[in-house]
Amino acid sequence: MSRPDEGAVELAALLRMSRRAVVFTGAGISTESGIPDFRSPGGIWTKMMPIDFGQFVASKQVRQESWRRRFEMEKDWMAAKPNAGHSAVAELVRRGMVTHVITQNIDNLHQDSGVPAEKVIELHGNTRYARCLSCNTRYEISDIRAHFEKHGDAPDCKFCGGIVKTATISFGQAMPEDEMERAQRAALACDLMLVIGSSLVVYPAAGFPLLAKRNGAAYAILNREVTDHEAYADLSLHGEIGPTMSAVLAAL
Ligand code: NAD
Repeated sequence: MSRPDEGAVELAALLRMSRRAVVFTGAGISTESGIPDFRSPGGIWTKMMPIDFGQFVASKQVRQESWRRRFEMEKDWMAAKPNAGHSAVAELVRRGMVTHVITQNIDNLHQDSGVPAEKVIELHGNTRYARCLSCNTRYEISDIRAHFEKHGDAPDCKFCGGIVKTATISFGQAMPEDEMERAQRAALACDLMLVIGSSLVVYPAAGFPLLAKRNGAAYAILNREVTDHEAYADLSLHGEIGPTMSAVLAAL
């Protein structure tokens, strides 16, 4: 384990040595933007249990509750702007040091910070829009909200009658095949895997850093707390993400 200031210098050294780094992010990178994570004190799970995919599909009432929660969080999530951590990652991508950002986040803040969309691999989808679960047609949240406010529920798909859901992957829902394949390719191709702000307990997502490590990549973790992967990490930094990543950039 390294102190944040020493660790930033060590992480900068690892980044300089690497040719194809991949960054893997979790909810922790967005807490400094005002979006709570799941597991920290005050995180989303201390307030309400997540809705499982099976419950969502099976019950109209559960769907209404899910949409009610989605619209309730709209104000905070839509006001959120990328923070210093997102900007540092975007700068590493811009300099060609990081090939891909694999993220568990659904907030679109990596794209907002300037990472080209084709370099962001969203394992758990994106909450900024919705899709029909049957035919995959895209719907905009503002249109669904207008319908919800008028009728008390979300519209079904206007083409096939299917259920419309935010374009996120819920617990119990199949992982997106394309993103899983892209993440696997990126993990196998990288020579440095840098995990920022993930508790590394959600699988299969947390398997990608381990895949990279087993394939010979160096493994670095930045988190304010100890994670489940401590034993595998070549470098483990304990500090706040924004200040630490700013220090890493300064040390490059
Ligand atoms: P998590 O809540 O399990 O873990 C977040 C981790 O980040 C914790 O280990 C915490 O110690 C650390 N952390 C939080 N703020 C930090 C900071 N400022 N500096 C350093 N460390 C910090 O998150 P997860 O592992 O990403 O898994 C939760 C799941 O919930 C994800 O799969 C994601 O889909 C979803 N989620 C997404 C968002 C989002 O899009 N912003 C927010 C909440 C949950």
